[in-house]
Amino acid sequence: MSRILPADGIEFEFTVPVVVIGGGAAGMVAALAAHERGAGVLVLERDALPQGSTALSAGLIPAPGTRWQRDAGIEDSPERFAADIIAKAKGEPDPLEVARVAQVVGPALEWLADRYGLPFSVVDNFSYPGHSARRMHGLPSRSGAELIDRLRGAVETAGIDVLCEAHVTALHADGAQIRGVEITRPDSSVERVGCGALILACNGYGGNRALVERHVPELADALYFGHTGNQGDALLWGEALGAATRHLSGHQGHGSVAHPAGILVTWATITEGGVQVNAEGRRFSNEAQGYSEQAAVVLRQPDGIAWTVFDERIAAIARQFEDFRQAEAMGAVLSAGTPAELARLMKIDANALAATLADIDRLKAEGGTDGFGRDFAGSAPLVPPYRAVRVTGALFHTQGGLVVDDEARVLDGQGTPLSNLYAAGGAACGVSGSKASGYLSGNGLLTAVALGRIAGMAAASAVSEETSQ
Ligand SMILES: Cc1cc2nc3c(=O)[nH]c(=O)nc-3n(C[C@H](O)[C@H](O)[C@H](O)COP(=O)(O)OP(=O)(O)OC[C@H]3O[C@@H](n4cnc5c(N)ncnc54)[C@H](O)[C@@H]3O)c2cc1C
Repeated sequence: MSRILPADGIEFEFTVPVVVIGGGAAGMVAALAAHERGAGVLVLERDALPQGSTALSAGLIPAPGTRWQRDAGIEDSPERFAADIIAKAKGEPDPLEVARVAQVVGPALEWLADRYGLPFSVVDNFSYPGHSARRMHGLPSRSGAELIDRLRGAVETAGIDVLCEAHVTALHADGAQIRGVEITRPDSSVERVGCGALILACNGYGGNRALVERHVPELADALYFGHTGNQGDALLWGEALGAATRHLSGHQGHGSVAHPAGILVTWATITEGGVQVNAEGRRFSNEAQGYSEQAAVVLRQPDGIAWTVFDERIAAIARQFEDFRQAEAMGAVLSAGTPAELARLMKIDANALAATLADIDRLKAEGGTDGFGRDFAGSAPLVPPYRAVRVTGALFHTQGGLVVDDEARVLDGQGTPLSNLYAAGGAACGVSGSKASGYLSGNGLLTAVALGRIAGMAAASAVSEETSQ
């Protein structure tokens, strides 16, 4: 479906200066930025309602040096954030891209708040692995559904056209110059729209099993928890046009998706002092390294299942997340006054669970490090009532993709921009390197918002230069 067709002889029904493919966070932010620079913009979205993986996310966006951090007394800077990103991905990502997105994202959030009324606040009551400062920002419900609803509302209020049920099935190009797109409608009719610049904001290939098998084989059979419409079209078009790609095995996994409820259980359950045990009641890893790499670790346990075990104090923190509240409402979060009662509800060996929890108590009291390398110093003990959720590992989204320059223009194998093609969000190579462990919490929406804004501004400037020549 993702083809490149000649532009020669094609009559486009109409032509728009900037066309954006995909109505998730990257596409909506790009559209707002391009519109503000005076360009005519059209967003094309395959679904009846733009949502994407953005709607499934927790909607948390990392940003350094924001006014919300200052108000909360949190010291941070783009340089410090960039260093955290590079450290998590063990030096793999392009330092220039990392510096760029770390610089751009804070002002971008303040712009979305000031200009479009998105009421961000900083999550200041727990830390995510690898972040040296509390810098996750979210909307009141801490949900991606609210993020995409508010972005969509802003786009509509700005008067930007969004065409839904508009599945882009081909690009029309003269060499590497994009002239327009082919849209297939639900009734199989086809329309063609011309463009001055094209922004690919149609995310990665998490929904395309063949591409996941090829690039992320360890999660080939894992639950895919992202948006199924993300079929890797940007990657396939880019490859066909000779674009450079990088870190295609990079991805965000998650080791705590309630099963069978299918709801994300926030990693605050771990960072605040919870642990994971397997069906035998035993710990099996250093959970605190990060939720992304934990997906494959959980999947290697019997039946691909683990239990996230914490207590009521931690549950109270987790309740700021809509997802967690839903998991509780569905009865996915078990509660018990003693380890023995918890083990009975979990249907696992009571002695093994009691021994595991006693070991954790001891490590916390001593401030010790366990055999997996997890440091329990400063971690509050787990006290009754205990909580437990049955979880599995899942693939959330892919992080590799098209290589872009400082204006989010897609580059070819020689590092030359492909004229009028831009990429943002999951369509572009992110800043997580080639491994799940390189994903620092928030890297997904980071490049959606930062590259979305860069791409929108750059595409609008390029088309306006072209028309003024
Ligand atoms: C459960 C979950 C929780 C997450 N939590 C977080 C978090 O808290 N913080 C964070 O930073 N990241 C998080 N992520 C990752 C984050 O959701 C993504 O990185 C981000 O939403 C990507 O935005 P995007 O705009 O690139 O893609 P999307 O939001 O997926 O939007 C892409 C859009 O393109 C459309 N599309 C695709 N192909 C075509 C086509 N050919 N024609 C027309 N339309 C097309 C799709 O329908 C979709 O609407 C999470 C992901 C999941 C799954």
